[in-house]
Parts: sequence; C-alpha cells; structure tokens
Amino acid sequence: MMSIRIAIIGYGKIAQDQHMPAILANPDFEIVATASPHPHPEAPGQAFGTHGALIAGMAGRLDAVAICTPPAARYAIARDALDAGLHVLLEKPPAATLGEIQHLEALAGQSRRTLFTAWHAQHNPAVDAARALLAGKVVTAFHIHWFEDVRKWHPGQEWIWEPGGFGVFDPGINALSIATRILPVPLFVRAATLRFPSNRQTPIAASLTFASERGAFGAELDWRYTEGERWTIRAETADGGVIELHDGGATLLVNGERRAFGGAGEYRSIYERFAALIRTGQSDVDSDPLRIVADAYLAGRRELVEPFA
Ligand code: NAP
Repeated sequence: MMSIRIAIIGYGKIAQDQHMPAILANPDFEIVATASPHPHPEAPGQAFGTHGALIAGMAGRLDAVAICTPPAARYAIARDALDAGLHVLLEKPPAATLGEIQHLEALAGQSRRTLFTAWHAQHNPAVDAARALLAGKVVTAFHIHWFEDVRKWHPGQEWIWEPGGFGVFDPGINALSIATRILPVPLFVRAATLRFPSNRQTPIAASLTFASERGAFGAELDWRYTEGERWTIRAETADGGVIELHDGGATLLVNGERRAFGGAGEYRSIYERFAALIRTGQSDVDSDPLRIVADAYLAGRRELVEPFA
C-alpha cells in the first residue's frame, strides 16, 4: 500500500518531541516537508516558511498535514489544507473556538477528506480501561486536579497568555478530554471561577463545578504549582468503587490497586488511528473538551490575581 505523504505545520516543541518520532516509526507515513515561520535546519524533508507556500510548493506530492501550531493559527491552516484536498490532523486543542471546529468539520465532509482531532491524552491505554470500568455505572463523585508549574512546562511561550491561547486550559483541556471520554454521562459546566493574572489575557487557574444530580463533580486547574506535577482524575461509583487516573492518564488505580499497561505511547496510537481513518475515508471530530472550556468562559466568574512575569 502506498505510504501517506505527510507534512508537519508548526515545527515547535510538540512537533519535535512527539509527532516526528511517531511519524518516523509508522510505515504508513512518509514525512516529506515542514512549514514553520523560523528556519529549523534539522527538520526532515523540504522546509517552507508558511503553510501557503507548503501547499503550493508540494502540490501533487502531499496527502496529509499535521497541524502543531498554537491553536489560534490552526483554523486558517486547516481550512486551506482541506480546500487543497489534504487530510488534516489537528493537535489539541483543535481550534480556538467552537465555530471554527464546526466549520472545519463541514469542510472535511464537503471535500471528503479526513479531519482528525488528536486528543493525545485519550490515547493512553489506561484511559480506555477506565472508560470500560465506568461504563453502565452510576458515578457519585468526580474530581479533576491538574496542577503544574507554567514556568517549567511552557518556558518562553507567550502565545498561551494571548486571547485564544487558553491559559491554564491548555493543559487542563487534556484532563477534560479524558473526562469526556471515560464518563458514562455528559459533562456540563454549572459554575466556574477563572483566575486571570492582572497583566494577562488568559487564566492561570480555574475552578469548575459540573452539573450533577449525584455528588460533587468538579475540576481544579492551577499553573502556580511548583511542587512537581499533579495530574489526577478520581471517580467514585454507587457500588463503592474508586477509579483513579494518575500521571495525566498514564496510570490506572482501581480501588487503590495499580493496573499495569503496555502500549506504544500516545502519539504512536494517534498516527495509527490517523492512518486508519484516511484508509477508510472517515473523520473523527471530537469538540466536547473545547465546549467545556467555552462554557467555563461563558458561565465563569473572573478573579484578578497577581501579575505574571
Ligand atoms: P511551541 O513550541 O510554541 O510550537 C509551536 C510552533 O508553531 C512554533 O515553533 C512556531 O514555529 C509554529 N508556528 C506558529 N505560528 C505558525 C503558523 N502560522 N504557521 C506555521 N507554524 C507556526 O508550542 P508547542 O508546545 O509545540 O504547542 C503547540 C500545540 O501543541 C499547542 O496547541 C499545545 O497545546 C499542543 N501540545 C503541546 C504539548 C507540549 O508538551 N508542549 C503537548 C501536547 C500538545 P517557529 O518556531 O518556526 O516560529
């Protein structure tokens, strides 16, 4: 079978750390080009400065693109790629707004190309196992704690503080992508408090309360945590069970007992799925985690906290 000729658009941290190795390890793909504003001499294939130059320069020699830019740039790039007849993988979050992702989904349908929202945290085997354990259960309490140090995980990234940059929801949406995948009921924001540094446009911390007819359902996201990382999700069920995901969805504990998983890793799994979707002519567009962030902004109270420098 012919390999899928792919280009990476936005050759930053996640493209280099995860996308490139996962593509190189997958025989379904051949990496043929990159597009990024600044030169990256080590990048494989032909290098372009803009996605427009890439699409024009690679016409007839390209099948798919993986868009790894910050989210605010993603819509226009994905639209142009779909218009050019290319399959599109979107890093998380898939777009800056719900309107953008809805339009991209419609365009993919019209052009009969694959559009894939790659929520990497959903590709942990422990997440699928948690989903299976919670299927058909009554969840009586649900809590997300997503704490990390923004200076450690996003050094020098200014876009996270700009409108459309998501702030603490940039990592927090990973937790929401796991939550929407494992819970047997839909999640709705009932109330939220968003904490904005007084000199920034996006929140550094957020508390979310979800609608629930049972016990408390909530999320605490905080970028001011400097004692390591805490990326945990805990669900209690009416039959007394406790399901916990630790380490960002990589580790599963059932009633306190750790379950072991193998697996090739999140990004290998993402590219296996992308290849399968392209080969079968399907799209996979999941905008639920983005809806929760949008709803938190719609329903949320604003608090100003100390400036971030
Ligand atoms: P990053 O290091 O800032 O990389 C983004 C890259 O996009 C930059 O290097 C920039 O390239 C390029 N870029 C910006 N605007 C562009 C445009 N219009 N066209 C083409 N390229 C453009 O950010 P990142 O950490 O990789 O994050 C990118 C996305 O991946 C975010 O949505 C983030 O949520 C997601 N993600 C990140 C991680 C992580 O651990 N960092 C993990 C999972 C997902 P130049 O360098 O050439 O200027």
